[in-house]
Amino acid sequence: MKILIVGAGLSGAVLGRSLAEDGHQITVIDSRPHVAGNCHTERCPETGVMVHVYGPHIFHTDDAEVWDFVNRYARFMPYRNRVKSMAGGMVYALPINLHTINQFFGKAMRPEEARAFIEEFEADRSIRDPQSFEEQALRLVGRGLYDAFLRGYTEKQWGCAPDTLPASILKRLPVRFDYDDNYFAHRFQGIPAEGYTEMVEAILDHPMIDVHLNTPYAPHHAMRAEHMVWSGPLDGFFDYRLGRLGYRTLDFERFTADGDWQGCAVMNYPDRDVPWTRVTEHKHFAPWEVHERTVCYREFSRACGAEDIPYYPIRLVEEKALLKAYEALAARTEGVTFVGRLGTYRYLDMDVTIREALDATAKITARRAA
Ligand SMILES: Cc1cc2nc3c(=O)[nH]c(=O)nc-3n(C[C@H](O)[C@H](O)[C@H](O)COP(=O)(O)OP(=O)(O)OC[C@H]3O[C@@H](n4cnc5c(N)ncnc54)[C@H](O)[C@@H]3O)c2cc1C
Repeated sequence: MKILIVGAGLSGAVLGRSLAEDGHQITVIDSRPHVAGNCHTERCPETGVMVHVYGPHIFHTDDAEVWDFVNRYARFMPYRNRVKSMAGGMVYALPINLHTINQFFGKAMRPEEARAFIEEFEADRSIRDPQSFEEQALRLVGRGLYDAFLRGYTEKQWGCAPDTLPASILKRLPVRFDYDDNYFAHRFQGIPAEGYTEMVEAILDHPMIDVHLNTPYAPHHAMRAEHMVWSGPLDGFFDYRLGRLGYRTLDFERFTADGDWQGCAVMNYPDRDVPWTRVTEHKHFAPWEVHERTVCYREFSRACGAEDIPYYPIRLVEEKALLKAYEALAARTEGVTFVGRLGTYRYLDMDVTIREALDATAKITARRAA
């Protein structure tokens, strides 16, 4: 088959590669001047630092097949994400763990003591059936930790009051009663030595794949294709005819400095009077490199306008109803497979994106054979 793939992010690249290996002729187009979508990395010409252009990306998975897949195309370096949080002028470790709790309450508790302390003295046991994110947090960790670490960050990240968000967002206790500050719990974790863009270029490097950058989709691109894979926005495919699915977008205030600016890759700022959500210092994502200067991003979250880059799908009640309507349109659209974070309007980590792209390949091939 001749297959057109819209989007050269991870979804498009992985599908392109696996369909090409199945013998199909692939054309990939992307409106951006580079491949890798939101995982794009590039070296800063001034400092030599590898910059995660659309925000920091750490690869983490329990899926051995996906881990093998990415290791075919890049040399992965071990990396553990250890996030810090600047709250009320003090620096704490995240996720909230025994160190954070002891430091925050000025104590030296052992795990079971800390567990009992939170349950007996902090957690709001008068809340029996939490209805909102706020109630759930107060029930699980209490006012002190909620106000310091969760409330302001959530307000800034989602642009709404936490008592208007569903309790389901905070399913589990957001606290660890040991000193484990490894942000992700997955077996395989790392960052490609030369960045994600080089990895995606290697995935797309196949004689049956043509890549066209700076090429926004237009209907004539699909004319000669027998099948299309769409990893652009789901509502965009239908010209937003039912309305726009809501997203949050990010603004990055970039600055450079000499030496080491904050001593770690990610510092969260949960205080309500600080407008940014976090600062990322990119050279700490590549601790195997040495650079005299440094590149940082101050990150701000806001509602996504028509011209902005959609980052996080909002997926509250209103958006879910609209999503259902678009999904119904997509189900009636012959010859198009909708994939990826934009094509399915979900937050997807990179490993899930790759898993779903590999599975979608098998489905396209099976449907064709049938
Ligand atoms: C701030 C942030 C941090 C993240 N950090 C992590 C992390 O640490 N670890 C992790 O596992 N995951 C992380 N993710 C998730 C990761 O970014 C996604 O898993 C991944 O980008 C999904 O790839 P995709 O191909 O589906 O989408 P995208 O990367 O968005 O690619 C879609 C591509 O389609 C192109 N496109 C769209 N419309 C058109 C059109 N009309 N014509 C032509 N081209 C079009 C776009 O230009 C884009 O290049 C993070 C996401 C965000 C937002």
